[in-house]
Amino acid sequence: MSDIKELDIHGWSKVYIKELYGGFIGIISIHSTKRGPALGGCRFYHYDNHKAKFALALEDVLRLSRGMTYKAVAGNLPLGGGKAVIVSEFYELKPDVRRSLFESFGDFVEKLKGIYITAEDIGTTVEDMKIVSERTKHVVGLSESLGGLGDPSPVTAIGVFTAINWITEKLLGKPKNKVSILLQGLGKVGSNLLEHLYNEGYRIYISDVSPKAIENALNKYNNLEYIPPDEIFDREFDIFSPNALGKVINSSNVDKIRYKAIVGAANNQIENYEVAQKLQDRSIIYAPDYAINLGGLTLVYYEYELRIGKQRSMEEAKEIAIEKTKENVIKNLEEIFEIVNRTNKSPAIIADEIMESRLK
Ligand code: NAD
Repeated sequence: MSDIKELDIHGWSKVYIKELYGGFIGIISIHSTKRGPALGGCRFYHYDNHKAKFALALEDVLRLSRGMTYKAVAGNLPLGGGKAVIVSEFYELKPDVRRSLFESFGDFVEKLKGIYITAEDIGTTVEDMKIVSERTKHVVGLSESLGGLGDPSPVTAIGVFTAINWITEKLLGKPKNKVSILLQGLGKVGSNLLEHLYNEGYRIYISDVSPKAIENALNKYNNLEYIPPDEIFDREFDIFSPNALGKVINSSNVDKIRYKAIVGAANNQIENYEVAQKLQDRSIIYAPDYAINLGGLTLVYYEYELRIGKQRSMEEAKEIAIEKTKENVIKNLEEIFEIVNRTNKSPAIIADEIMESRLK
């Protein structure tokens, strides 16, 4: 592994750095392999600050890989947490360059001999992962034609839907047709979630920066109301469901939001613990992201089991993933909110403490 640099960082198992095809820098962070191989997507991302882009990428990959460890624990999966970042440029790559880049990334993954399993993430596609799969078997999230279980987003949406129902019944105590929900982001997860919530009779409001996504939803369902993105913090809703970006609740809006609960799929929704505790002090319920958005990871884990020889049909694997997702989301919420009610500490802090203790 002479062309791979290794970094030791306190609290992380190992960080590997390699120059990939075309001079692109690839970083693979292994946070933990205590419970199994470290699984986490590969992000292909450009960082605005040209001079500090390596430091920013490293910070990102470290934080994201730790989040994957917690998510694997939350999903009760025999996996550790890892993540990869390839630092991109602003320009789009020609197809042959992109192919060579992902081939070299596949070689990088292969050299780690299975301690890291990669997948699609922001900036990478199923097509990129198909190329990676030509160089290594340690890749998941492949299309069904390649022996994968397909897009994990519908399973993620089922987990979030389960959480919304649980919070509505156990903590809000209101009939579903009287609960207003603002859905932010109608992408792969949000559009699936919208369908479940609509069929369940919730009062739904939608927001997205993509006019096309809004138009599709308004054409498909009756009685939805569109909220422009710059108005989402000015209105009152029972549930805000972030399914677009990270850090959506931060120090600039935490004091003014008027939601009763925040329950969504987006990773890293809350800027930091201080903001999370402010929500708790204002009696705003927060369902910790990784404790409920674990459905996609659960599905790709069952795909990995098939890849390494488990005898089971694809349909059966999908059904098990869905059942395990629902079961674990409810288990997590019950455990987290039992402690929150006793301590008045933020669910974000409690969830991290629970995952750390399950890791021991
Ligand atoms: P996606 O890219 O398919 O959809 C994101 C949607 O958000 C798009 O429709 C986009 O137009 C919209 N959006 C972007 N900026 C916005 C803004 N400022 N206001 C409103 N809408 C905005 O992504 P996805 O796969 O649906 O994932 C959504 C979130 O859930 C991401 O944070 C992702 O990391 C997280 N997540 C996804 C999965 C999964 O299985 N896909 C699993 C776990 C977590």
